[in-house]
Amino acid sequence: MSIQFKSFLLRVLFPSYYDEYSNLNAEVEKIYTYSQEVIKNYKEMDERYRELIREYQVLDQRSISLSDLHNDLVDEEWGDKKRLMQFVCSRPFERISVYPDGSIYTCPIAGVKFRHNIGNIFTDKFETVWNSKNACRLRLGVSKGNFEYCNRHCKEITGSGNLNGENGLQQRDEFYLSINSIDDCVLSNGPKKINLYLDESCNLHCPSCRKLPYVANKTETDRIFQLLDEKIAPLLPECEILTLLITGDFFSSNATKKFVRKHINHEQYPKLRLFLMTNAQLLNEKTWSGFPNLKDVPIDLSISIDAASRETYEKLRRGGKWEILINNLDYILTLKRKGQFRLIRFNFLVQKDNCGEIVEFAEMARRYCVDEVWYQRLSNWGTYNEKEFETLDVLNPAHPQFNSTVELLNLLQSSTQDLVIKISF
Ligand code: SF4
Repeated sequence: MSIQFKSFLLRVLFPSYYDEYSNLNAEVEKIYTYSQEVIKNYKEMDERYRELIREYQVLDQRSISLSDLHNDLVDEEWGDKKRLMQFVCSRPFERISVYPDGSIYTCPIAGVKFRHNIGNIFTDKFETVWNSKNACRLRLGVSKGNFEYCNRHCKEITGSGNLNGENGLQQRDEFYLSINSIDDCVLSNGPKKINLYLDESCNLHCPSCRKLPYVANKTETDRIFQLLDEKIAPLLPECEILTLLITGDFFSSNATKKFVRKHINHEQYPKLRLFLMTNAQLLNEKTWSGFPNLKDVPIDLSISIDAASRETYEKLRRGGKWEILINNLDYILTLKRKGQFRLIRFNFLVQKDNCGEIVEFAEMARRYCVDEVWYQRLSNWGTYNEKEFETLDVLNPAHPQFNSTVELLNLLQSSTQDLVIKISF
């Protein structure tokens, strides 16, 4: 019996019920329309919120850069610039980081002088960006040892390491000594290291990172994939390390997963190594079976955990489940034993709520045959107010727990032999 016919019978046989039914129906429709509006508004507000966070992060980075610039102008010379004369930073010669707006930096944003990116991949051809004036000026500055476009607090200069745990400063060799002009800085080879900041998709929304969960919608996913497909894929033949995904979780990013499935394989790119960043909540047998193309590709896996207990984990990795993590770590261990991963690193963002688990975390890493543990200082990505951040940031020298935490970390580092312990703050 069709709905129309049922409705007709109801109207004829029970006119009063029919009126009630019609009123109710109208109410339901109103509620439905209203809920659709609420959902739409929520989505718009969420999008705006995320835009504001992005703007805040860029401004925050710029303010560091500007204050360094001010210091340089006031002090004219850095105290240790002479020491740097013997060194060169290889980053501008070999690395790029690609941001969601298409801008390309060779260096950490707060490392270079105000907005010294090398161009935009949306508006220019990659070859033009890679050998742009800004790129060549930066190369000349580091080759001559004056680090003209660098800030003294750049991680490569202070030696606090970078995301891949490598240090860009090295002794100046023949190649760098032979560079005397901007023209000498034009490179015929492409970047060896590519860091992707293009997608913020993540299955978790940790308090240290974001207030709400975010996974790119279809339009955004298509846009990111197109960029990767057109602009990044042609760089793969010369690339040696491709890092993804610095701004999110690789296994949550449909665009980067599609890109990896389509383009990455050992036969075509034998020099290429992947550096995959994840919280491991989605890295299970089913997910991994979707990447048969990665079988022979050397992969470093960087897993952010921040805790050695269920309670702390589920508080600090909001949205994550301890059981799922443990099950997936067991599976990852089987993959490691089969030689699927070249290196596994566990990450621990040191903060007030987890500093009592620093030692247990290293023990946990040992149980999973992890190669490295990286303890890092907490950053404020706009998710804490100043007061909250002050309380949580135990690796701030002004924090009452600073000395005891640093002492513990140093002791752990010096007494651990079977595991590399990295500390940066
Ligand atoms: S020292 Fe820092 S800012 Fe300078 S070239 Fe190296 S990474 Fe870039």
